[in-house]
Amino acid sequence: MTDTNRCLVCAKDGAFEGGICDLCKAIIRGEALEHQHQIRKDADHSLHKEGTDLGKKRGG
Ligand SMILES: [Zn+2]
Repeated sequence: MTDTNRCLVCAKDGAFEGGICDLCKAIIRGEALEHQHQIRKDADHSLHKEGTDLGKKRGG
């Protein structure tokens, strides 16, 4: 029988849609979301940095 696949991520046996099991799919989705958060956090940081720099210069 060659109807079974293996999860590409955890190598678990079974027929999975897209070759990835539900658990790994959820993990990948979660990671993708976290990445988006990280980008937003980074943007926030640079904004704050600029703000402090300007304040320092202005405040003297
Ligand atoms: Zn898996």
